[in-house]
Amino acid sequence: MMQPLAQLHKQLELNLDESLERETGFRFKAHTDFIERIEPGNPDDPLLKQILPIKEELRPHPDFKLDPVGDLNANPTPSLIHKYHGRLLLMASPKCDIHCRYCFRRHFPYGEQINQRHWETALQQIADDNTIHEVILSGGDPFSLAENAMVTLIEKIERIAHVRTLRIHTRTPIVAPSKAPRGKLLEWAENSRLQKVMVVHCNHPNELSDKTAELMSVYRLAGFHLLNQSVLLKGVNDCSETLAELSHKLFSQGILPYYLHQLDRVQGAAHFEVDDATAQTLKKTLMESLPGYLVPKLVREIAGQPHKTPL
Ligand SMILES: *Cc1c(COP(=O)(O)O)cnc(C)c1O
Ligand code: SF4
Repeated sequence: MMQPLAQLHKQLELNLDESLERETGFRFKAHTDFIERIEPGNPDDPLLKQILPIKEELRPHPDFKLDPVGDLNANPTPSLIHKYHGRLLLMASPKCDIHCRYCFRRHFPYGEQINQRHWETALQQIADDNTIHEVILSGGDPFSLAENAMVTLIEKIERIAHVRTLRIHTRTPIVAPSKAPRGKLLEWAENSRLQKVMVVHCNHPNELSDKTAELMSVYRLAGFHLLNQSVLLKGVNDCSETLAELSHKLFSQGILPYYLHQLDRVQGAAHFEVDDATAQTLKKTLMESLPGYLVPKLVREIAGQPHKTPL
């Protein structure tokens, strides 16, 4: 269930500024699964900070752009983003179950780009390029599609012989586990020839709950390798204890840390930025306190580079 901003303010005992949401041009959105993890009366709650529109978003910053990672230049056909060797993104849905204030796609022209009418062209393009071994469903969030439509798309991908791996990038299992797909998708996964990877997106240990644990065990049993990507965010997770706890808690739910992203410099998100020196110190502290397999790779996406760039 989605909640309007006014209800969130009431429930969490916050002061309401109704006009701000409109001024930022990026609507408030969160599911009750996520909101119930927020501590009422705490304006510094790390989950609240990820979803609440604030004045700082309106302050212009010369280095924070509308399309920070050059997506619009790597876009051979609508819905496809092909930047790296062997794998590409297929943007399967324009929607998400949450609006993260730091989102690098908060200004992306989704309406134009992501539409099921582009899928056939996109699939043909993948079929014509036998260097593509992995298709990554992204968005928005592919899990905000109707499950039947998503599985139909996946089955079409599976029919392309040179595709070996299906990867799903999704935040839904973390922020709205009670509405994540469990029907046709699992049936498909249990019987598919493809290798299956799911990369979830969790930034703080408080986002993980009994609901996410139960869901992850279901996906694991269906054959998905589970990985996590986080974004390093000032005031949310820029603390080595928090990041170490996140890694341990992810692992306890069957998920391995994959990437810790330096923030993409998108307009409206400058107040979330952690500088590179601080990020590197955090990484060093993590390496000193965690087994290697629980240390995420600290990376930045630089437009035009053939891979994410390690820091
Ligand atoms: C991040 C990204 C990928 C995935 O990169 P991996 O390093 O394989 O996780 C693929 N395509 C695009 C366009 C990306 O931005
Ligand atoms: S779930 Fe991902 S794509 Fe959607 S708003 Fe959050 S960061 Fe952006």
